[in-house]
Amino acid sequence: MNNFLELDKKAKTLAIHYLRTEAELLTVLIEMRQRRVFPQLNCSGIFDYCERVLHLSKAQSFYFKSVAEASEKVPELKAAVTQGQLSLSQARRIVPVLTAENHQHWIEQAKTLSQTSLEKEVAAANPNARPKEKIKPVARQISELKVPIDDETEKNLLALKDILSQKFGRPASLADVVCFAAKTTREKFDPMEKAKRAKSVSLGNTAEQGRHPIAAAIKHEVIRRDGNQCTYVGSDGVRCSQRRWLHLHHIKEVAKGGTNTADNLRLACFQHHQAHHDNRIALNNPPGATSETY
Ligand SMILES: [Zn+2]
Ligand SMILES: [Zn+2]
Repeated sequence: MNNFLELDKKAKTLAIHYLRTEAELLTVLIEMRQRRVFPQLNCSGIFDYCERVLHLSKAQSFYFKSVAEASEKVPELKAAVTQGQLSLSQARRIVPVLTAENHQHWIEQAKTLSQTSLEKEVAAANPNARPKEKIKPVARQISELKVPIDDETEKNLLALKDILSQKFGRPASLADVVCFAAKTTREKFDPMEKAKRAKSVSLGNTAEQGRHPIAAAIKHEVIRRDGNQCTYVGSDGVRCSQRRWLHLHHIKEVAKGGTNTADNLRLACFQHHQAHHDNRIALNNPPGATSETY
């Protein structure tokens, strides 16, 4: 027999074993889930177990999880996999649209359609499903960005391609557009960047007493000093990493004569600010800060 035919035969035999093993693993995982085995193994569920214990890829762990979950509602899906009618990969594609009523139709579609056609059919039947946002590393220092966009955003991106091509004097790619838009938006709106541009002010105790709006220059000073990040430090010495929903907190309350000086203000995220005022936590100084800084 020709060598290539032997290899072909071997590959086909292995593929049959591979798919059978996949189906058997699915059966075992479903049983483990039904018998609540995962908590006893310190795993939160099928995904966690497949990834951490079985060392399967994230994607494959997710397929097992979603097909197992769908099989609880539609046992015919598990049957189609264990009887060798569908591979795990085909089964997981119809999970988003599968119901007890329509399973016959979708299992049939999954058996007969190509991967692309099946994905199109599922997307058409499931118009509200938006693909998840994702940044996936593809090479050293290069990642792939995947994000759903509406028609208006698509127009804006294409218009920017023209505008930037003109500006750069060379054809701009979508990557150039995203890079430029991200950079210029950040320069414009990032509080830390704004604070860096703002002039430094003295931290003296010159502010008036009573409740007044905090001057922009003071805000910038506080943002710059606190690194535009919540200043709460937990008992473990770890500083809160929150850079959103930040509040300006008065160390000495305005009602008690505290003023709008930078040294009387600090950044705290919404949660830690509230917890502090509910007397649940103290807003400690962040590591490296001296008592003079605050
Ligand atoms: Zn406060
Ligand atoms: Zn915080």
